[in-house]
Amino acid sequence: MNRDEFASLVLDACKRMEDRDMTVGTWGNISVRVDDETFLITPSGMSYGSLKIDDIVMADMKGNTIDNKRKPSIEHALHRMIYSHRPDVGAVIHTHPQYSTAFAIARKDIPAVSEELVQIIGEGVKCAEYALPGTEELAANVVSALGYNNAALLANHGAVCVGSNLSDAFKVAEVLEKSAKTIIMATIIGTPKVISHDECLKMQDFVKNHYGQK
Ligand SMILES: [Zn+2]
Repeated sequence: MNRDEFASLVLDACKRMEDRDMTVGTWGNISVRVDDETFLITPSGMSYGSLKIDDIVMADMKGNTIDNKRKPSIEHALHRMIYSHRPDVGAVIHTHPQYSTAFAIARKDIPAVSEELVQIIGEGVKCAEYALPGTEELAANVVSALGYNNAALLANHGAVCVGSNLSDAFKVAEVLEKSAKTIIMATIIGTPKVISHDECLKMQDFVKNHYGQK
């Protein structure tokens, strides 16, 4: 795929993020890895509906922007650090969804309570230590909270979801938000029970090696 084809995937993802109410206005940001050295990311502070292919910014793994037409999202360091630490990640979505953000405001982790959470995201979702938006400190805290899971919460802020491509990252974002909502509902009617570490490993092995037509 060339630059414009990657950029058009980012535009589609922006529309999807707005349609699903995962953020408000110009908040949130989306990126896709182009190769080992570069990624494309949404620009800072532009409404998603107005974005054109040329507005998507190319950046490298050293913190430079390559085409200077627009300023990149203020969270470009966060996206860059995730790509540097996770070679398996091909797309990053930062959202402000309501129920996941409720956990982020309470600075609570989301435990491993459902099969889909464990299979799609990992053994729970950790809330990163608080840091100001747009800082290297926030990026480092999120990379640490993310580990090898596919989502992390940003204290008093929102969520970050990753996947091998944008479609997978969206699936993570949807399972994360559904899980956060379901736990809040389960807490009203009883006490959510956490799936044990051993059971989590078995579920992950099943989905990786045996699920479907394998
Ligand atoms: Zn944000």
